[in-house]
Amino acid sequence: MSVLKLHPDTIEQVIQRIDIVDIVSEYVLLRKSGASLRGACPFHKGNNPTAFSVSPSKQIYHCYNCGATGNAIKFLMEINKQSFQEVVIDLAKRYQIPIRTQDVGKTEELQRKLSHREQLYEILAIACNFYQHSLWAEQGKSALEYLRVQRQLDIATIKEFQLGYAPLSWDVIYRYLVEQKKFPAKLVEQAGLIVPHKNGDGYYDRFRHRLMIPIHDVKGRVIGFGARALDDTEPKYLNSPETELFNKSQTVFALDKATSAISRADQVIVVEGYFDAIALHQAGIKNVVASMGTALTEAQMLALVKYTESRRVILNFDADKAGNSATQRAIAGFEHLIFQGTAHLQILTIPDGKDADEFLRQHSADAFQQLVNNAPLFIDWQIENILRNRHLQRADDFQRCTKEIIELLVKIPHDSPLRTHYIYHCANRLAQGNSYLAQRIEQDLRRQLRLNHWYRHKAEVISSPTSLEIAETQLLQIFLHFPEHRQLIYDLIEEEEISFSFSHHRYLWQLILQLISEQKASLDPEEPRPNHLVQQLQCLCAQNPEVAQQLYSLLWLDESKQIALMRPQMVVKVAIANINLVMGEKRYRHWAQLWQKTDLIHNPELAHFYQQKIQEEKAYIDQLREQIRLSPEQAMDRETTKFSNLDLGEF
Ligand SMILES: [Zn+2]
Repeated sequence: MSVLKLHPDTIEQVIQRIDIVDIVSEYVLLRKSGASLRGACPFHKGNNPTAFSVSPSKQIYHCYNCGATGNAIKFLMEINKQSFQEVVIDLAKRYQIPIRTQDVGKTEELQRKLSHREQLYEILAIACNFYQHSLWAEQGKSALEYLRVQRQLDIATIKEFQLGYAPLSWDVIYRYLVEQKKFPAKLVEQAGLIVPHKNGDGYYDRFRHRLMIPIHDVKGRVIGFGARALDDTEPKYLNSPETELFNKSQTVFALDKATSAISRADQVIVVEGYFDAIALHQAGIKNVVASMGTALTEAQMLALVKYTESRRVILNFDADKAGNSATQRAIAGFEHLIFQGTAHLQILTIPDGKDADEFLRQHSADAFQQLVNNAPLFIDWQIENILRNRHLQRADDFQRCTKEIIELLVKIPHDSPLRTHYIYHCANRLAQGNSYLAQRIEQDLRRQLRLNHWYRHKAEVISSPTSLEIAETQLLQIFLHFPEHRQLIYDLIEEEEISFSFSHHRYLWQLILQLISEQKASLDPEEPRPNHLVQQLQCLCAQNPEVAQQLYSLLWLDESKQIALMRPQMVVKVAIANINLVMGEKRYRHWAQLWQKTDLIHNPELAHFYQQKIQEEKAYIDQLREQIRLSPEQAMDRETTKFSNLDLGEF
């Protein structure tokens, strides 16, 4: 496909129109913090709920941990893995900004593409009406009866959810949409309603003799269907396929009808089935959505908590084994959101293994609300889950439980008061009322968690060896090929006591120092002959082919490497910071190891001393990382900078 060139006016209008706070808020929960807004960074998995900063006045974002930086367009490019063009087109469409390209013919191509989406919406809306109509016609009698009798839904609810019926026929929707309404068959197929015959000859209806449950986006537009079989046909539930409009992992059922109730109740209840959600809405509990039959994803979770202040999500999956593992999977899927406080999760289990729909048929909405109010925090739920059906008197069960509990507790940020609370709580549960044992277990848990924390942290701070190798290489390349910076590099290496980590780099530096001391080379940019130093080194290396191979890229600079070194002073600064970073990390690990071995109770002063060292080193490391991140080379790519007034001064 040819590349479309968007008209600068379109790009400009989009930039004028968008607000970074709106854009980012769709993915990240932001809270006000002074002049900026803070939240958890969507680009790296960490536990810091305020690492990510958005500046409304500058219209840029920045992460203090991973260094992600840019404007709203860059944000969308990164998070959706889209090109600049795609993002601008989507935004233009969203804000009804006319899209112009630099080539008149292409503008039409683009408009056709946009109207394609609009047509899909239209087809689905018409299909939804058709199915609804069928439900109330003679042919839908059994389906309607199923809803009225078995599901006990009243007419208002059936109409509110636009429930329908797909007749028992191979081509009724095909004939209606393609032959009668004249939509191209290809388009109806793309809407997920018909399926081409395997032999390539025509189409057949995807949904036959099924109860149709339309799925809407948050704006209330139909984007797909869930369809329940009315006989023994498998599968019991058949969903629309993934289409241009329907993305299962980003959709939750009934969100369009629940948003205001979610805000009002300041919590959202997530149930498993469509009918659980519908039944709860009918009972007047409207802050309810249903997952799409799959484990709840992070994107779905973020879409939900956005509407609450307290970020409270109540998960109500079936109490059977499958429901239990669905709950476990859901928790695992967005664990980091919970632990960093982006979401506050409670687990609701309905007694006697019922689902919400069944429960409501026997109990009142108030009784259900009571269950919601008493739903345990997910950690408590997890702990009880670990302890269930275990015999703590037995050594193997006891050991397994302890191990699983440590694996759970280690995920709670180590400075959170929650951790202390749960260590105490778990120790008491494991000790089963024996207070002496409880104390011992508590100590043991603390020790194990400390160990665990350190190992995790260690894995986090080790930077890739390649960044060190690149840094050393660049430093030497500039030294050799940009004589005007030699003195600077030489001084920095002396001052910062830098030694090269890679043996061939060390070897080369030794050669250089030797040539200088023998006065065969100098730091003066005005050498006797241009590139005198490099030529001598090339000569020396030529006598030793093995070394020459390793040093080739340093001594012979091709064009692409020259481009990479275009701002030598900046490259030197970043390279030095990178080298110092690796050394700082080494020292950090050294102190952490010593601290780890120290008995906190008998030798508190020494432990305190090591702790201080660790903190000093950590501060130094953070400072270096900041320096590296804020170098303009790393800040952002060219295309976006061109259209925004980036001022990184304050960051
Ligand atoms: Zn980040």
